[in-house]
Amino acid sequence: MEYIFSLEIIYLIASITYILGLKMLGNPETARNGNLIAAGGMTIAIFGTIFLYQGEIPMLIYSLIGIGLLLGTVVGWLVAKKVAMTKMPELVSIFNGMGGASAALIGLIEFNHYTGDTLSIVTILAGIIIGSISFSGSMIAWAKLNGTLNKPFRLPKYNLLNNLMFVLLIVFAAFIAWSGSDSQLYLYILFFGALAYGVLFVLPIGGADMPVVISLLNSFTGLAAALGGFLYGNMVMLTGGILVGSAGTILTFAMCDAMNRSLVNVIFGGFGDTDLTVGEGTDGPQGSIKKATVSDVAILMNYSQRVIIVPGYGLAVAQAQHAIHELEQLLEKKGVQVKYAIHPVAGRMPGHMNVLLAETNVAYEKLAEMDDVNPEFPNTDVVFVVGANDVVNPAAHNDPSSPIYGMPILDVENAKSIIINKRTMNPGYAGIQNELFFNDKTSMLFGDAKSVIQALISELKGM
Ligand code: NDP
Repeated sequence: MEYIFSLEIIYLIASITYILGLKMLGNPETARNGNLIAAGGMTIAIFGTIFLYQGEIPMLIYSLIGIGLLLGTVVGWLVAKKVAMTKMPELVSIFNGMGGASAALIGLIEFNHYTGDTLSIVTILAGIIIGSISFSGSMIAWAKLNGTLNKPFRLPKYNLLNNLMFVLLIVFAAFIAWSGSDSQLYLYILFFGALAYGVLFVLPIGGADMPVVISLLNSFTGLAAALGGFLYGNMVMLTGGILVGSAGTILTFAMCDAMNRSLVNVIFGGFGDTDLTVGEGTDGPQGSIKKATVSDVAILMNYSQRVIIVPGYGLAVAQAQHAIHELEQLLEKKGVQVKYAIHPVAGRMPGHMNVLLAETNVAYEKLAEMDDVNPEFPNTDVVFVVGANDVVNPAAHNDPSSPIYGMPILDVENAKSIIINKRTMNPGYAGIQNELFFNDKTSMLFGDAKSVIQALISELKGM
């Protein structure tokens, strides 16, 4: 009986639930249950750690743990319940930052307990550096995602400065570890230095590089947690950290691919290394635009054979996912072939469009990835771009001075006609004008995505 409930067995069960949960997250149909299973595993791991601990725990510590658990559960529950889908990326950034902060705090507390044990001290210092960078970097990413910091901030020679600071942090940590010093001053200099580096590391990022940075910070948090697990010999913390770290790393490479950047360039190169910053450069291409009405577009779609919908951040803002699914089903009923073209960085978090459309039960096979769908545009009668901008901006191909130059895009300009729905002529996240709007084949359908799509649906129903 005692064996069944031993902590090791609980940790083993919890680790299995993480792996199973992660696997189930790979498919929209099983994702919700996968999340619940992994959360269940985490819950038993937490309670197992608290109640099956072998040593003496004073009542005060139990009470503090209880208060922390209660506060965390209530705040986390309320925030997650209340958050709007469009604010999800910001929330994920905050949660990610909290993971990094926890790892750094563990390091600060444990430093004194391991003096003289070089391997443990190296683990602790690495946890402090990585956790602090992940925390402060995630806070800046949060501010950038919610628009508080909408312009990249770049000190003169920021690249050189950042790289130098990173090297100094590593050298200083090595000095602390090998000198065997137990100086609190050194420890806090390292801690605040790492926090400052996290800020300086993310602040200059503009253009379209945020997705890479967000997934990179995510992998940092996993790594920092894994270091904590290694330090304590805690298998469940190690497994959880490794899973988050490796999933984050795979995602980082996928995002690098999507942005056409190498990881070395992302880490040590100049993020969005161009004079153009977010919010600037709206002068860009000029020309006259054609405006379409809802009935023009309804007629065009009604008599098309193939329509491709390109969803973007604006679809999420307008919460138009149900409306677009209804439009897709209506067109299919009329014999029009419809699919969605999904750009890997559309929206504000990796997989944003997939999550949004999965919520409405859009058939999985209707979602086409960029590389698969790009050759199909020349045979497409109508491309309907809904609240997307940067991911269809031909400047990525044509303008070397653009912050998104080199990023693969959805080549919608090859379609026979292009309808773009957005509210104004304002630019998207990268802050640059889009020459596609002035293309001869393009018609602008201005308005909030949800209202416009609903109007299209009623127009089409009457045909
Ligand atoms: P963009 O931000 O480029 O464009 C979104 C467009 O939606 C805007 O031009 C806006 O125009 C329009 N819009 C906003 N609200 C509405 C509404 N209610 N109805 C209709 N249209 C609306 O989005 P994309 O998805 O094309 O590109 C994503 C960008 O975000 C890329 O630059 C990417 O690098 C970046 N990014 C992506 C992350 C990720 O992980 N996916 C993370 C961080 C950044 P208007 O205001 O005129 O309506």
